Amino acid sequence: MKETILPLWKDSAIESNLTICAHPEKDSRRPAVLVVPGGGYGGVCRSTEGDPIAECFSKLGFRTFILHYRVSPHRFPEPQQDILRAIRLIRYHAEEWNVIPEQVAVCGFSAGGHLCASAGIIPDDVEVVPEDAADAMPSRPDAMILCYPVITSGKYAHSGSFKNLLGKEYSKRKREFSLETRVTKESAPAFIWHTVEDQAVPVENSLLLAEAMRKNGVVHELHIFPHGPHGMQLGYGRADISQWPGQAAAFLYGTLGFHRADPPEYRRTVVLTFDDACKSHLETVAPLLKKYGFNATFFVCLFTDEWRKKNEKYLLSGPELKQLSDMGFEIGNHTWNHPDLKKLSDDEISKEIESLNDFLKQNGIPEPVSFAYPGGPYAENAVPVLKKYGLITARTTENGPWNLKKQDLMRVPCTPLQKDNKLAFYHAVSSGKKGEVPVILFHGVPDIVHDWVNTSPECFAAFMKYLYDNDYRVISMKQYLQENGLC
Ligand SMILES: [Zn+2]
Repeated sequence: MKETILPLWKDSAIESNLTICAHPEKDSRRPAVLVVPGGGYGGVCRSTEGDPIAECFSKLGFRTFILHYRVSPHRFPEPQQDILRAIRLIRYHAEEWNVIPEQVAVCGFSAGGHLCASAGIIPDDVEVVPEDAADAMPSRPDAMILCYPVITSGKYAHSGSFKNLLGKEYSKRKREFSLETRVTKESAPAFIWHTVEDQAVPVENSLLLAEAMRKNGVVHELHIFPHGPHGMQLGYGRADISQWPGQAAAFLYGTLGFHRADPPEYRRTVVLTFDDACKSHLETVAPLLKKYGFNATFFVCLFTDEWRKKNEKYLLSGPELKQLSDMGFEIGNHTWNHPDLKKLSDDEISKEIESLNDFLKQNGIPEPVSFAYPGGPYAENAVPVLKKYGLITARTTENGPWNLKKQDLMRVPCTPLQKDNKLAFYHAVSSGKKGEVPVILFHGVPDIVHDWVNTSPECFAAFMKYLYDNDYRVISMKQYLQENGLC
């Protein structure tokens, strides 16, 4: 689609408009960034705080728009009506313009930041002028990127902006528009940056807003750079300030979970595995994985009859394992009794593998291609037997990422996680060079019978949300083999 400029209103006397920036015709839907240049509510600095910003966010994977809004002698609510109308139009035309309508961010500079923050904090103060079917769309943005914004009309005010916005009503109404006093828990999440040396709009504007957001529990990220005057735009090549667009994108994609449209080869991948057939795998784990479109391998064993009887209510039955399998998850072999394979003869190992395979077969579950060594250590003596039963890969608990090309498929490393160790989780999922993939092992969520390997459902949910928000692909061992033509 070529760059298109759309008038915001039917009334041709109103000069405000929305630029839909050029984007490829055949492309997936993307989150939107509506760029709102500054100008003290007396002008719109499109050439410096409009086009270059839109171009930059377009490269970061967003669908971009630029707002040209009414300024002095037009007063409140006209600029505010313009931005809210633009947001409604973007949502209304989401399909046509390839936008994800629940992921519309506004990015404003200086007084444009005040305009964006008005949309994100006090949208209900602005009367909707009836226009067309787009009126029915919600108008609060899903996120705000505020660059050296005008916020307060108090001690640290950039009073020129408020005078332009309010005209004759300046003295009477300026307090209403001191937006740090208007933040509620409903306010839109914000990425905010400012420079300490800003003489025009003091840094306190951003500090006051961040403080109000913290008090009200609104998600926000604040960057204060020591140097640079007002209006640093894209940072003019400064090593520190010029990082902000990428940091803002990370806030939207990571913290807020905006959808990243990167092709799969650029996406990070994690292989998830779950051991010992805990009931919580079906009750807690599977629904969450499904919600996020994740896959995983469940390594199943049955333990001794006596032990199993005692702990029956915590362990998955045959039909329950079939349910997991029918949900699309991989069921792997973890032996029948969970013995130390190094101590067993070939015949004994065969029996362990075969009885579990038979049990799975009786329950209508496909024959496993993945195996996990009971207890974790590699058992070299078992490898020929495993291969005899068609097992292609075997997981140990030797730490480190999986390198399919360099490592033995029968000795796959992995990181066991337990006790809600968040740092170990972050470390594990970010480990590995190009061509390597981290393999993670969880036991029960929670694990009632083996409490020393417990993971709490709350922590597990936070881990999965992290993977989703950070755009990981989460797959099973079998899927990884298939993707590499090994299965
Ligand atoms: Zn185990």
